[in-house]
Amino acid sequence: MKRSWIAAIAAVVVTAFFTATALCFGVLNGAAWVAAVESGQFRIVLDAGHGGVDGGVVGRTTGLKESDLNLSITHFLKDELTDMGFDVVLTRKTEAGLYDTATKGFKKRDMQRRKELIEAAKPDLVLSIHQNFYPSGSVRGGQVFYSKKSEDGKALAIALQRQLNELYATEGVKARAEKSGEYYMLECSVYPSVIVECGFLSNSADERLLQSKTWQKKLANSIAAGVVGYFDGAAA
Ligand SMILES: [Zn+2]
Repeated sequence: MKRSWIAAIAAVVVTAFFTATALCFGVLNGAAWVAAVESGQFRIVLDAGHGGVDGGVVGRTTGLKESDLNLSITHFLKDELTDMGFDVVLTRKTEAGLYDTATKGFKKRDMQRRKELIEAAKPDLVLSIHQNFYPSGSVRGGQVFYSKKSEDGKALAIALQRQLNELYATEGVKARAEKSGEYYMLECSVYPSVIVECGFLSNSADERLLQSKTWQKKLANSIAAGVVGYFDGAAA
């Protein structure tokens, strides 16, 4: 009887010790990364896709330009991430593209300029903001692309896709999966990079949502939550 009583006490003490240790490490990790974020140690490049004469894809119903949407969502996201303490660098800040003149080879010059800005920023991650288009008008939702060559890029894509799926679920849209792809923005630098396709301009319901500033803010909110989820996972 006495022996089992001692064993029970020992079990409680051991459990308490491991729980306290686990909590302690959890708190330290969390506190460490919150401190790092607050001191602006994490830098994020936001790349609003297209711009200038390159409007990207166009809304099927309203003719809404992808380049305008990308910029608007990027600005909401910049505010969100800046408020959280991240150091945010933008590639495209205005409606204009990043080429000098829209003469032959402008698209290549535009992409090269984005790469140079990313390399100069030396960020912890790069989010390139875009809108999707698919021949079948029924496809909906957000979709995140990553490079197969980057494990961190994939982890970031998973964290972001989860948040976009949660947001679109509120509109009854079924979950999509993150996808690998071979795109210039994913491979032009060594930094973990993803392309965030915020919705489908080929679908009239997505197009209606994407026009709304409220939805754009919600998207920014979800993307920021995905970024936090990614850093949280990396710190764990
Ligand atoms: Zn695009």
